[in-house]
Amino acid sequence: MTSHDVFSELVGQEEPVDALRRAAAAASRIVAGEPGGGGMTHAWIFTGPPGSRRTVAARVFAAALQCQRDGAGCGECHGCHTTLAGTHADVQIVTTEGLTIKTEETRAVVLRSASAPTGGRWQVVIIEAADRLHERASNALLKAIEEPSPRTVFLLCTPSVHPDDILVTIRSRCRLVSLRQPPSSAVADFLVQRFGVAPDQASWAAAASQGDVERARQLAADPEARGRREEVLSVPRRLTSIGACFDVAAKLEAATKTEAANAVAELDVAERAALERALGAGGTGRGATGAMRGAAGQLKELERNQKLRATRAQRDALDRALQDLIGFYRDVLVTSMRAPVPVVHGDLAPVSSAAAEKWSPESTLRRLEAVLTCREAIDKNVKPQVALEAMMVTLWRG
Ligand SMILES: [Zn+2]
Repeated sequence: MTSHDVFSELVGQEEPVDALRRAAAAASRIVAGEPGGGGMTHAWIFTGPPGSRRTVAARVFAAALQCQRDGAGCGECHGCHTTLAGTHADVQIVTTEGLTIKTEETRAVVLRSASAPTGGRWQVVIIEAADRLHERASNALLKAIEEPSPRTVFLLCTPSVHPDDILVTIRSRCRLVSLRQPPSSAVADFLVQRFGVAPDQASWAAAASQGDVERARQLAADPEARGRREEVLSVPRRLTSIGACFDVAAKLEAATKTEAANAVAELDVAERAALERALGAGGTGRGATGAMRGAAGQLKELERNQKLRATRAQRDALDRALQDLIGFYRDVLVTSMRAPVPVVHGDLAPVSSAAAEKWSPESTLRRLEAVLTCREAIDKNVKPQVALEAMMVTLWRG
């Protein structure tokens, strides 16, 4: 095993990586006309908790399938490079970066997947948010998986294999790759080796991010992300009256809205410009009025979808904030129980110790539950501010 092959991206995932390496090696034997030996199959599902890098795992496996060095995923050959860059002719990716997954686009990708690979290896289709496929797209996908072309491979990413996330009929035909939450030490090593983060900073960021690799990288590299975290972790200290509870809830709601707006702003503008260019290319003349009506409809649709994306981005930002708070109350609890486990927020150890002195374990547990309840409520579409206010009152009273 070399340290810089494509699989080195999959931090702390030894078992899945072993299975994927074996599969890629078998796939390479099949390409060479030899018996594959059973490690390879044509449909895969990648699941795992947030931050476990499901989509990275799918892309890395795709690179290994296209790798010209016996499927090793060397990271250096043309096949690996172009796959990771998203430009390989035989790797089609339905991304989550854009808006909701378009049914027609997905069906087109699935239909195209039946053609033979131009590079002579595999035709790979990656669907990065298979849980967001609409019914018609899911059905097209199911049909393709049921009647596989010999050299086509489907890689589906979903948070879980719950029937809400993926059709049972699709699930039953796929091999499952379950990624886990990587241990802090593995995340810290990765930050040091891959991004040159100082070891102390890396250990802190890995612990504070609770196994979410992207979040750890962000905390290590981005002062604004660190600032937002500090703001969130000051919440418990700011809850000094019922008025403060409502005030803190409103501020947290507003902060996550701003964070989300900033995150999507650039993409929104680029998409709108691209659509306007495409529509403008229609020119004037006969039929121009009808075209204008169509254009207005398309712009409206784009705006609607962008608004949905902003809402989703705010949910993600809120979820990160709640995750930080969960870490804090957990730290208080383990401190008061004297449990021999490391704390999540090492930099706040004096604060969590002081809270552990002051609060009974039962009241800390009630606070922890309040955060979990808030998270569930937001997940079920309760207005964030309402859910946050209810949470803050319990966090204050205990
Ligand atoms: Zn390679």
